[in-house]
Amino acid sequence: MDRQVQTNSRQRELFIKKSTRVAASYLNRVKSLPDLPDAAVPFLDALENTYIKLQDIAKPENVKTIGTLCVMVPAELICAAGAMPVRLCSGSYTAYSIGDDHIPRDACPLVKSIMGFAQIKALPVFDNCSLLITPITCDCKKKLAGVINSVKRTAAIHIPPLKKEDADTEVYVRELYRLIPVLEKETGHEITPGSLADAIRMVGRAQYEMSRFLQYRKYDPALLYGTQVMAIMNAYAYMPVNVWTEQMHLLNSELEARLKRKDFVGKQKQPRILVTGSPITFPNIKLPLLIEEMGGILAADETCMGERGLSDPVSVIEPSFDGMMRAIASRYTKPCTCPVFVDNRQRVFRLKQMIRDHKIQGVVYHVLRGCLVYDYEYQIMEEEMGKLDIPIIRVESDYNEEDVEQLRIRIEAFIELIKLKDHAKKKSERK
Ligand code: SF4
Ligand code: SF4
Repeated sequence: MDRQVQTNSRQRELFIKKSTRVAASYLNRVKSLPDLPDAAVPFLDALENTYIKLQDIAKPENVKTIGTLCVMVPAELICAAGAMPVRLCSGSYTAYSIGDDHIPRDACPLVKSIMGFAQIKALPVFDNCSLLITPITCDCKKKLAGVINSVKRTAAIHIPPLKKEDADTEVYVRELYRLIPVLEKETGHEITPGSLADAIRMVGRAQYEMSRFLQYRKYDPALLYGTQVMAIMNAYAYMPVNVWTEQMHLLNSELEARLKRKDFVGKQKQPRILVTGSPITFPNIKLPLLIEEMGGILAADETCMGERGLSDPVSVIEPSFDGMMRAIASRYTKPCTCPVFVDNRQRVFRLKQMIRDHKIQGVVYHVLRGCLVYDYEYQIMEEEMGKLDIPIIRVESDYNEEDVEQLRIRIEAFIELIKLKDHAKKKSERK
């Protein structure tokens, strides 16, 4: 049987009905968390437009969108070619079910979901991308790059598995140079020193607003729910960079005002949790929701649809075209804490730093079924958290909802454990 046969229209109709219903139910749960800042609404609208109203991104007609499948694909290069980057990693269970027919059973749900959207052709944000840039990071993404090319034109780029030596960064510099003519042909725009510098500045403004936003995330009690934060950060994938930045500026002003009024959403003694591990991507945000619905506060995340994507600016030391290209290559690999790299001491260091800065009391380690790179790391994390006396829980999950009750029980017990530990600590301090 031909595995690339187009899904028929009845299937497509059913798909749309189901996927929009699931996305709407998750979005409503985010909206129903109390005290959503007014300036956060446009971010949730972007998720609604993409996954529920099935609209394309609001952008000028002559601007093309280029799909990316990883935070290590530089937005600056795409913007410099006059196009808009759209991050197409998806958390749709409905699309996963379609992708499951085209990808081996043990592959992770994230790549199945991407493949599902490529097959079903029901998501304009996906369908209207003229090109997909796929990084060769883990085995799932590598094989996806090969199979998805038959449905969607794809440019695969090699990410060096090592990043310590200059020679490693050189590999990525060469890959980015190789991407330039591909992007120029696609968009009809030349990437010039001027357009590259403008793009670096534009993305840099988004990173600056993000860094301000992350400062507000550190307050205890919390100024906003972590699930709302994750939805806002997910929305970066589906909004033009400058629009997201302007909106983030407004949100930061609103949070500043909240802080002055001491208008916190969190309560004293609420267990402060960090989530890390495999990507948490809308609509599959069941884990953040469960953590906060069970009484925890998601005070930080170390995931690639969250803080990791926009955490560091490109730092240009030498302002020539080549200098900018090297600065971009360095920014997109060296500080990246994704475990696809061989040496992950930096990841451990970053997590410890976040635990200290965000006053974290417990870590939820998310492993998507089939995601070996994150699963490999769990043991190291468990040992490191043991040294810090921070409880950690490994949560293996998928995109379906069948495990929700079991997860709820485990998360609830984990939060109770943190509370008991905190209580015992305070008691011994009083003695
Ligand atoms: S988990 Fe790593 S490889 Fe996968 S999309 Fe995120 S940063 Fe890229
Ligand atoms: S890093 Fe994990 S979640 Fe991401 S594509 Fe690879 S296996 Fe899937």
